[in-house]
Amino acid sequence: MQEKLNISNKILTRKNLIYLIKKYKTPLWVYNANIIIKQIKKLKQFDIIRFAQKSCSNIHILRIMKDYNVKIDAVSLGEIKRALIAGFKPYNNNIVFTSDILEKNVLKEVVKKNIPVNAGSIEMLHQLGKMSPGHPVWIRINPRFGGGHHIKTNTGGDQSKHGIWDFMQAVSIIEKYHLNLIGLHIHIGSGVNIKNLYRVCESMKNHAIQLNKKIQFISAGGGLSIPYKPQDKEIHVNDYFKKWNNVKKKLISTLNCPIKLEIEPGRFLVGQSGILIAKVHSVKKTQTNIFILINAGFNDLMRPVLYGSYHEITVLHKNITDIKKIPIIRGIVAGPLCESGDIFTIQETGIILPRNIPEVQPGDYIIIHNTGAYGSSMSSNYNSRPFIPEVLYEKKTFRLIRRRQTIEEMLSLELPI
Ligand SMILES: *Cc1c(COP(=O)(O)O)cnc(C)c1O
Repeated sequence: MQEKLNISNKILTRKNLIYLIKKYKTPLWVYNANIIIKQIKKLKQFDIIRFAQKSCSNIHILRIMKDYNVKIDAVSLGEIKRALIAGFKPYNNNIVFTSDILEKNVLKEVVKKNIPVNAGSIEMLHQLGKMSPGHPVWIRINPRFGGGHHIKTNTGGDQSKHGIWDFMQAVSIIEKYHLNLIGLHIHIGSGVNIKNLYRVCESMKNHAIQLNKKIQFISAGGGLSIPYKPQDKEIHVNDYFKKWNNVKKKLISTLNCPIKLEIEPGRFLVGQSGILIAKVHSVKKTQTNIFILINAGFNDLMRPVLYGSYHEITVLHKNITDIKKIPIIRGIVAGPLCESGDIFTIQETGIILPRNIPEVQPGDYIIIHNTGAYGSSMSSNYNSRPFIPEVLYEKKTFRLIRRRQTIEEMLSLELPI
């Protein structure tokens, strides 16, 4: 039975889950477009919403964004191609390339298509300036502080490789090459607490005033967190918007030009839309622990092992039972990989963290929730396990949006021998 849960994903009925498991087999990602659309609408006060596609880069997800007027951020040539295939046109600032380096093939593509570049290093400005004078650029500012749910997701401050430290140096190089500075951007990390997010407003204001030139855009970056744990609260988007809107108004009057306010979320738009369904294959007892071994590993969902991230876990029993009669055990949910860190209930330190879970047996299913962001897009072929399928629920139907990779496809890159 599907348990309790403050998860407002109405498609997760027993009937639907059994249908999906039968049709597509496990392990399997499932997304609910309605949740993505709901999240987009929460941000509608911002002039521009730009989706950080690295959080969930399936082209069908990108197409939903496009349908709802969300623009797109790309951080690699592959992501630019994804955006183009999803139907984003490379003009009107629809696609912005954000990076800290510019590889040759990327440089060629952004110049050819006139895609604005959000520069995170001085070298990028030199490269662009030499090859494409007048090119539209943003400066990604390192505001000299950062934030994030984990040290690995902090993208500002002295310890971060991201963004430009010496703002005025970037400005003078932009002037030297007559690059077209269209916007200022600050993104300090992912899963940032609200206090640090508010500090960004202040920093943006100060930098823009220091710049003292007309610009078209300011971007608040991403980083908005979502509730992962039952006690986590939703972020107050309205308050956040108001703070940024005040910055915008101030800059419009100080710089005496129209300015559009962008927000650039990844997690916030897609995180809650996705689940990972996996099958229980073994329940092992050691002296003190119960390991529930499932057929998805950190090659599929990396967040727990990488950050010690918490994801809600529920159980779908193969046979209908009265869930209230099933005893709760202290279980550790683990994957199939040949690596002892392949655990989904784990602390940041790598220490296992048993969780209250209704007792399961081989043949039952585990559902890992809120995996829409940094789930599939971070997957690997580690242990030579193929990429698993993705299914999208949209307009009242389930549809395969990425098929399961075959082992032959995976090996083909190395053949012939
Ligand atoms: C990753 C990233 C984002 C999105 O971060 P979230 O925490 O998923 O909102 C936004 N902007 C840039 C430049 C990023 O690298």
